[in-house]
Formats: sequence, structure tokens, C-alpha cells
Amino acid sequence: MSNYSAVIGLEIHAQLLTDTKIFCGCSTRFGAPPNTNVCPVCLGMPGALPVLNRRAVEFAIRAAHALNCEVQALSIFARKNYFYPDLPKGYQISQYERPIALRGAVEYESGGVTRRVGITRAHLEEDAGKSLHEGFPDSDRRTYLDFNRSGVPLLEIVTEPDLRSAADAGEFFSRLRAILVAVGVNDGNMEEGSLRCDANVSVRPAGSAAFGTKAEVKNLNSFRHVQKALEYEIERQTAILEEGGRVVQETRLWDASAGRTVSMRSKEEAHDYRYFPEPDLPPLEVGAELVDAIRATLPELPDARRRRFVAQYAIPDYDAAILTQSRPLGDYFETAAAAAGNAKAASNWIMGELTRKMNELDVGVESVAIRPEALAGLIRLVDSGTITGPIAKDVFEKMYASGRSAETIVAEEGLAAMNDDAALETAVREALAAHETAVAQYRAGKQQTFGFLVGQVMKATRGKANPATVNALLKKILDS
Ligand SMILES: [Zn+2]
Repeated sequence: MSNYSAVIGLEIHAQLLTDTKIFCGCSTRFGAPPNTNVCPVCLGMPGALPVLNRRAVEFAIRAAHALNCEVQALSIFARKNYFYPDLPKGYQISQYERPIALRGAVEYESGGVTRRVGITRAHLEEDAGKSLHEGFPDSDRRTYLDFNRSGVPLLEIVTEPDLRSAADAGEFFSRLRAILVAVGVNDGNMEEGSLRCDANVSVRPAGSAAFGTKAEVKNLNSFRHVQKALEYEIERQTAILEEGGRVVQETRLWDASAGRTVSMRSKEEAHDYRYFPEPDLPPLEVGAELVDAIRATLPELPDARRRRFVAQYAIPDYDAAILTQSRPLGDYFETAAAAAGNAKAASNWIMGELTRKMNELDVGVESVAIRPEALAGLIRLVDSGTITGPIAKDVFEKMYASGRSAETIVAEEGLAAMNDDAALETAVREALAAHETAVAQYRAGKQQTFGFLVGQVMKATRGKANPATVNALLKKILDS
């Protein structure tokens, strides 16, 4: 056990789901050809003036509510001055002393314990362009710039240093993502960079109240990276302290392929940015009416929903965690569970076959071909004994391919289970007669042939026999 403990705070950049950028009318669509979603404003041309996107403000307020923050009646945009090739204006419009949201907290249950992570603030800002260091024949000599991302609205969420381990940080980040996705302000897509995380991490002797010197780790674009980078960084800082050295305050970059953090630059201080109020934008005033109206439209948040699923549907917490990862998935489950009258079966089908199908075809649950009512129809056929489990999977595939209901497929293709005992016994006796060698082997003590014989009966009945009944019947006949 280490004599040092870690203190971690996160800064999360969440792209707000507006159609257009924060200060101009350019599209925010990801994946457009480079430098096609641009105009004089987001390219930082002299004289171009920003106009605030109202939708971005509404989304920020929505997120602020979900994070239990106090929405500020008045906030101020500020220029954060720094040079970077993908920042043609030479400054980024952000919020500094007066952000739109302050003093929130996220509470959630984890392993039976209620966790609370404070939110210091959340502020609106514009994203910078993107430097492309890879993917071109001359990438070893040149960096290319794409300004499509320049001016995309971001909400930067800063937590209190309330996290104590890499695993804590990873879990919190995933909870936060679920919240932002649930309230519809962010798409949660970390691969496309619409949710990014930086971490401030320090270590201190166990039991010490004072914080150690922190390093900022950038570029943590997946839960796995958050966890791996923090594990590495905590170990690195602990090793320095154990050898009597001092941790340097700096910004470090997570190199995922090398599995380590590397020094990027000495840590800048806020005053290095020469913040000053943005002269081209008036102070942002938000009326109480708008704040209340937005609060009234908030959906049930993921943690509350997860707990309700466990209580109401008696499904394991593991299932509930997966089913509440997105609102449409949770809605799908609730509809299917209610219509089927069997929540656990609905959960199993959704987490199993349906998810497999969605991954295979790369479709979301909103556009999946089998609607929840139709899935419920299939579940009812299994529960009533009309079809067997193996046949159900087959019917599922057919439903997906044809859009027909389970009932129709079973009726039209004669897939109903064999409930006729006499017919089943005939099938079993025929299978035994056709495989005399296997029967002899079984009787001579070769147990494995039993499974083979069950398989033969299932095949002969095209999966329509109940496997348990076949087992029992075979045993009875063979052992007699
Ligand atoms: Zn623009």
C-alpha cells in the first residue's frame, strides 16, 4: 500500500448540440470536408463581429440544471489571449470571472456508496480549429489546419478536486457523460472529440491535508485513457516524492500508444492569458423565466432512472446501468418490458441479440428495425411455451429481416413448439433407430453420445421440441 494518496479534478469540454456555431451561422456538422463550414467570423477575419447563438445558451442552462449548478443571471464573455496556428484571431472567446454556472454537484451511487463530486463552474466558450499532424504524404514536414471546428460551442465543466483515484475519475467521467447525453446537450461521442477531458492530478503523503503540486494531463479522449493516464501519472508523481524529489507544475500530454504522459509545457497561469471582457459581445443576461422554463423540461437523470429500474423492474443493477446509458435505450426497454410483462427477458434480449444486431448494422436504438412492442410479442411467445428458445432466436432474425411480427412468422412457417408428446416420442424413437451405433456407445458408457442424440432429435424437429423434454424423454427410453 502506497504512503501517498491522489487528488484529482477534471476539466471537461463538452460540445453543445447546436446546429450552428456559437458566434456565427456556420454548420457544426462533424466530418464535412476541411474548411467548408467556415465564414469570416469563425476564421477570425478583421472586422467580423460575433453574434451569440441563443440555442448554445439554452443548452448551457440545461446542463447547469442537470449538474445542480446555480445559473448566473449575468455572465460575461472574455478574451483568452494566446497564439496557436489553429486560433487565427489570437484569442479565444470564453468566460472567465463571470461564468454562466457556478457551485454544482453530481451525486451518484457506486458500489452501494453515495458519491458526491462538486462542480466548481461551467462556462461557455468557442472551440479552436484543428491542427492535422498526420495523414498527409508530407505530414513529416507540414501541419495542416481545418477550421470547421473553429467556433463550435463548448461548455467547459470544472470539478472540485474531489476524486481520489484513477478509477473514481473514470467512473465520474462516464456518469457525467451519461447526464449530458440524457439531457440532450451533448452526443457523448468521444471519438469525434465532442467530449474531451483534461485532469489535474497531484499526490500527497497519506493523511496530509495540504495538496501536492499538480500536473495537468491533457488529451484524455476515452474512459480508458482517463483511467490509464491517471494511473500512470499517480505512479510517476509518487515515485518522484518517494525519492525525495519535487513534482513540477506543468502540462503533460497522454501518449496512448506509449502508455505514458510526457511533458508538454510548463503550466501557464491564468494571468498569462491576459483575459479581458470581450468588447464585441454585451454581458449575457439570463432571465429567471427562461431558467425555470428550461428546468421544467429536464428528463429523469440517469442515476435516478437506474435506481428506479432496479426497484421497479427487479432487474440487476448491472442491467440497469447498461439500459440507462442513453435515454432512447431506456425508453425502448420500458416499452418492451411493459408490453411483454417480463422485464428481465426484455433486458436480456436488448442487451444480447438486439445490441449485437445494432452493432453489426451500426444503427441506434431509435432506428432499430424491431420496435419494442414487436420484441415484446416475441417474448410472450417464449413465455407462453408457444416457441422454444432456439426457435425464438431464429424468429428474431426473421423479424429483423422482414419486419413481420413474431406471431405471423411462427404461424406462417409452422414454428410453434411441439407440444404433442406422442409426436415427440415418435421423433425420439426414430432418431434412436437411425443412430444405433451412438445408442450402443451410450449404453456402453460413452456419456458424450447423449448430447449427440439430443442434437439429432432437435434437428429432426427443426428446433421445435423443448430441449428439456427431449432430454427427459431420451433418458427414459435409453435407460429403460
Ligand atoms: Zn462561421
